[in-house]
Amino acid sequence: MTSTVVASPSFGDLALLPAVLSAIETLGYETPSPIQAQTIPALLEGRDMLGQAQTGTGKTAAFALPLLSRLELERREPQVLVLAPTRELAQQVAVSFSRYGQNLNGLEVATLCGGQEYRDQLSALRRGAQVVVGTPGRVIDHLDRGSLKLNGLNALVLDEADEMLRMGFIDDVKRVVADTPEDAQRVFFSATLPSEIERIVNKYLVDPVKVTIEARTTTNESIEQRLVRVDGGAKVEALARIIEVEPVDAAIVFVRTRAACTTLTEQLSARGVNVASLSGDLDQSLRERTITRLKRGKVDVLIATDVAARGLDVPRITHVINYDLPQDAEAYTHRIGRTGRAGRTGIAITFAGFREGRKVGWLEQATGQKMDVMELPDEAAIRAHRDEVFHQRVVATLTKGAEEQQALVERLVEEGYDPVELAAVFAAMARADEPPIGRLQAPRRERNERSDRERGSRRRDDRAPREGMTRYRVSVGHKDGVKPGQLVGALANEGGIEGSRIGRIDIRNAFSVVELPNSLPASILAKMARARVAGRALEISEDRGGPERAPRRRRDNGDAPVRRQSRA
Ligand code: ADP
Ligand code: MG
Repeated sequence: MTSTVVASPSFGDLALLPAVLSAIETLGYETPSPIQAQTIPALLEGRDMLGQAQTGTGKTAAFALPLLSRLELERREPQVLVLAPTRELAQQVAVSFSRYGQNLNGLEVATLCGGQEYRDQLSALRRGAQVVVGTPGRVIDHLDRGSLKLNGLNALVLDEADEMLRMGFIDDVKRVVADTPEDAQRVFFSATLPSEIERIVNKYLVDPVKVTIEARTTTNESIEQRLVRVDGGAKVEALARIIEVEPVDAAIVFVRTRAACTTLTEQLSARGVNVASLSGDLDQSLRERTITRLKRGKVDVLIATDVAARGLDVPRITHVINYDLPQDAEAYTHRIGRTGRAGRTGIAITFAGFREGRKVGWLEQATGQKMDVMELPDEAAIRAHRDEVFHQRVVATLTKGAEEQQALVERLVEEGYDPVELAAVFAAMARADEPPIGRLQAPRRERNERSDRERGSRRRDDRAPREGMTRYRVSVGHKDGVKPGQLVGALANEGGIEGSRIGRIDIRNAFSVVELPNSLPASILAKMARARVAGRALEISEDRGGPERAPRRRRDNGDAPVRRQSRA
């Protein structure tokens, strides 16, 4: 016996305050995660810190536990300030502080986020909150108003620093840092380390401890995770294209309901895909027979519901396709675990509609892995792929030869036909049964029904803005392929306001007009203006009319035309 076993530390080894330890115990945390084990001791010493680890690795507790342990509870002023990029994240962090600090008498946590009442925030500050968590814009608001004072601050935390910079908060961050005492501890946590972070670290952190936790080795490591943005009506075509072009040995396609299972099986079968369905409808013996057919290569694509596919273990499954989004991260993990089995690699492709971005965010957060956005193969790519497949078939057949056809071909040549032309005609005949390439667009009727529903009350019309609302212009429109949902999402999230507070949205060709509440503070508008949609900053400005009509869309390009609502 020569090796020494280095036990991973327990929370008890970490010199945390007993009241904090007891809370962790109540929460059922057994051992510190790697980032926690490595950052907590230095944070307890008051060192500046740059901590890097993937999402879902416990970064919140990594800074919250030591900082809570060092609070002077009777000193009723902000001692810890945490900046987070979005309201959701700030709220999560605030809740975590309250949970980890549940046994600290007199602990007050204030959450300062955009889109929320000042009243509650002001009273939490007045009660003497020792911990303040917020989004940069609202924190600066309070600094400007004088309601937030940082002279007594011991620690400033930048959570999700990369996301913060990505969202354009760099100047806000600098401003807040400038308002904190020189000797306050400065702590940055981030999932990734773009060079911009290195720069502000060098500028603002003093002799920081740097901790990096390599990507987790999870069971998903051998699975490449991709994301396809595609909405309802185009999903069947998208699936058909992926199955055709991807190097699929066998694939399992997940849908949400039994009915969807049946429909999709029929639709794919009609396109010549070798497909079967596996849903809860099947009795045990039929289920087993279906799986055997998949194993033996009699079937290549299985359409399945979550329950029916639990535990399925077929090594030849190269692809898992989430045709409908899974209910939650657990279901996602189960689904994608059907591929990448027995030491092989697998590919998981998830379909998500343009309004389902948040759910995708949750999945990524929960699995700690980002999905790479994948473009659907376009018509040219499909044709190129089919040519390639046909080319291989021809070459393979050439090695076998086709003697029995030679007399016929010689006769045609003698009759004076050009051999190349002849060969092209044969190729056309041989390929006549290749299925037509569908369109990636829903049929017009379905599209219009859907867009009516999506737009809801945000229909285009020419009446004055509703009461309490102002019209603003944003610099993205049809030409950028923007959808109302994307604008609602970006404005609500970046501005930290409820989506329901956003009024009508009118997408024109080169720009869009959105109604926003009159009461929005300038700082929120400024934040919204920095939001990026379809790769462009929104550059929000008040709509003063101007060239009213964007050029009318041609109707022949498959794009949804801008529909005017009839006033009947
Ligand atoms: P990150 O900020 O790195 O994305 P979070 O701080 O949000 O991660 O933590 C992710 C999840 O892990 C949370 O649900 C949290 O309660 C849980 N968690 C954190 N630390 C531990 C631990 N030591 N043991 C068990 N669960 C933990
Ligand atoms: Mg976090």
